[in-house]
Amino acid sequence: MPRKNRRNPEFFEKPEAPPARADAPLWALAPGYDVRHVGGEKEYRCPGCDHVVRPGVWHLVVVPQGEPDERRHWHTECWRREIRRLGGRA
Ligand SMILES: [Zn+2]
Repeated sequence: MPRKNRRNPEFFEKPEAPPARADAPLWALAPGYDVRHVGGEKEYRCPGCDHVVRPGVWHLVVVPQGEPDERRHWHTECWRREIRRLGGRA
């Protein structure tokens, strides 16, 4: 059978094991930041609301490009608000 794209074959061979991280939704992308969608197993402090991001809750990891030490874990809705504050289109 024809197969044009041979990318990430391991992922497709394990359909029952979803990746623990994925590309962020398009609305969450902001210039100058790397944004990832993750399901973490630890608690994090969300800088948007200063509350805990609970283990196992899918949320967003935001890393300023060139500043990996400044990575922050945001509730999805808090980052959505932050995007608006930054002047994004979300
Ligand atoms: Zn929050």
